[in-house]
Amino acid sequence: MLDTLLTDLRKIDKRHRDALKRLGLFTVRDFIFYFPVDYEDFSTIIPINMVKPGEVNTVQGIISEIYNEQTQRQRMMLTKATLEDKTGSLESVWFRQPYLEKFLKTGSYVTLSGKVEYNRGRDLQMTSPVYEKYRPEALHTGRIAPVYSLTAGITSKWLRFVLKPYLKHVTELEEFLPQACLKRHRLLARNEALKQIHFPDSQQSLAQAKYRLGFEEMFLLQAMKLQKRSVFKQARSYSLKFDKKLAQKFVKKLPFTLTDDQKKASWQVFQNLEQNKPMNRLLEGDVGSGKTVVTALILNQVLKQGYQGVFLAPTEILATQHYQSFLKFFADNNFNIALFTRTQRFVDKKEISTNKLLKKIKDGEIDLIIGTHTLLSEKVKTKKLALAIIDEQHRFGVKQRATLKTINTGNKIPHFLSMTATPIPRTLALSIFGDLDLSVIKEMPKNRKPIKTSLVAPFDREETYDFIRQRINKGDQVFVVCPLIEESDTLGVKSVKEEYKKLNQQVFPEIKIGLLHGKLKKEQKEKAMQNFLAKKTKILVSTSVIEVGVDIPNATIMMIEGSERFGLSQLHQFRGRVGRGQKQSYCYLFTDSLGEKSYNRLKTMENCLDGFQLAQHDLEIRGPGEVYGIRQSGLPDLKMASLTDAELVAVAREEALELVTKDPDFREHPQLKNELLRFEKTVHFE
Ligand code: ADP
Ligand code: MG
Repeated sequence: MLDTLLTDLRKIDKRHRDALKRLGLFTVRDFIFYFPVDYEDFSTIIPINMVKPGEVNTVQGIISEIYNEQTQRQRMMLTKATLEDKTGSLESVWFRQPYLEKFLKTGSYVTLSGKVEYNRGRDLQMTSPVYEKYRPEALHTGRIAPVYSLTAGITSKWLRFVLKPYLKHVTELEEFLPQACLKRHRLLARNEALKQIHFPDSQQSLAQAKYRLGFEEMFLLQAMKLQKRSVFKQARSYSLKFDKKLAQKFVKKLPFTLTDDQKKASWQVFQNLEQNKPMNRLLEGDVGSGKTVVTALILNQVLKQGYQGVFLAPTEILATQHYQSFLKFFADNNFNIALFTRTQRFVDKKEISTNKLLKKIKDGEIDLIIGTHTLLSEKVKTKKLALAIIDEQHRFGVKQRATLKTINTGNKIPHFLSMTATPIPRTLALSIFGDLDLSVIKEMPKNRKPIKTSLVAPFDREETYDFIRQRINKGDQVFVVCPLIEESDTLGVKSVKEEYKKLNQQVFPEIKIGLLHGKLKKEQKEKAMQNFLAKKTKILVSTSVIEVGVDIPNATIMMIEGSERFGLSQLHQFRGRVGRGQKQSYCYLFTDSLGEKSYNRLKTMENCLDGFQLAQHDLEIRGPGEVYGIRQSGLPDLKMASLTDAELVAVAREEALELVTKDPDFREHPQLKNELLRFEKTVHFE
């Protein structure tokens, strides 16, 4: 019965079927797992003489009168009714539902739930109450009633009515959590929880149902991740010796001293590399905290011992910049370094054909390959890749990581070092990756001055422009970031062009301005960057597409248009493009909408310079899916469990770990195995 198609159910007509499809509901099972998003608590029926103005009350009685009436001024149809019980009578009113007069006839016995108010300050009345003809088992009123997320053509009321009879089929679902686990955590049985989640008997049983269903989701997620991880753990990688002298020599040559956090992170990586198990480590560090030099220090070890390294960046511009940085870092070595992007194939600054490059990589002649996603789609094969570094890892998908595991010819897989400036709390990292090691760079290089950030209201624009003009005249440079305005305008070309025109013609007509967006040709993009770097242009207007990493120390001002359209973490990333040199830097958040919510949200940017705190803020306001992008980062879209609920993650993980350790292939847990297969499909793990 569970797999019966809704289209085969006679009760459901064509119009409703289409609407159900839009909600993604195809089978009875889908129906059962379509959880309410909210509840209305109408569980206490009270005598009419006890109703209180201002409250939502539920009353039961006989309709003693019902009629339609048209309002004088607006010509709206009102339906008015009087309900009576032993203790008194109460008026009700509905708007634009004249059919109610026929439906709730005089003399019928009904339950009404709704807000009680004074009608023009005189008599008590119930406004637009939810109604139900009395039935022994009330569906909508006189209980805690479910509220569903809906689409046109379907009401919660209809869903409650249609769903209820099919709920009994929950008994066909098997329990997959071990009995001991159910006991330990006092969990409701699965089918009971599913019943209660739709039609709870009480607030308490609703809470229990939510907990059980959240637990099961988190358990499945952890079991899946841990099982994959145990497969990954069996894989072998190269074991590298740590060469202390080499590291010291490298560090000595740097124009600055490493921060303690940079040293610690490098040390943690070195320890992993000595094992023959593949490393799986995430390096978190705020924008500008100096992650690149850490990777250079590590790569130096890897390449010196004759192994290959790959460095992946999310954009062409960033890959190019890293390529140049590494050429500098390794100027004294004779490493062969390649750049491999959609439009560029270089080895040691010389252009090379794709085929030649592929061959050189396969033969092990290239030591370090720096590139973008293209590198993965071009079927690159390496000879002895020992380390894969992924910059801004949340911009890469799960599939791309998987591809890297098979990139080596032979059976060894590389060590993985992912990097991010968008901090992921430990709990969330465990939810997403099941298991991985974390290194965190908290401390900023010492020479930094905090960036002064201001939220600029529309009426303060001119003043801010004046200030920026002064700074430019003193030799500073300015980034301007514009948001995507329309969905269809995926590259933000339209808004960026308009902004460019405005600044060029109206605001700063005397100043040279550059333009950068995703639709430009490679040469045009490079030219725009180079002109800016060479100070030929003083202002660079760009889309948010090139948000990350770019290093231009002379740029000290960041202007962000439509800042209310961005998350705090993202704004922080933009801001991180300035403040890289010795000079005082500024960040201006322009906004044309100053609703209270977005005002307060943006205001936090002024005082908070800590990317971790801002990410936490984002998480609370917008949830992990919004912050990290569900599809992109492989974040599962769970229905019940919160990915950031530390306690839930911990207990579910512990249970899953015990089970996976004892029974890694789920041979003794066939129900769980089935459930996992289904789960993997529904959580959209790519
Ligand atoms: P991110 O962590 O955002 O990738 P980068 O690696 O691009 O940051 O580093 C930002 C800038 O800081 C670079 O110009 C780099 O040379 C410089 N830098 C890195 N580490 C230090 C340090 N310990 N002291 C001073 N400057 C540093
Ligand atoms: Mg970086």
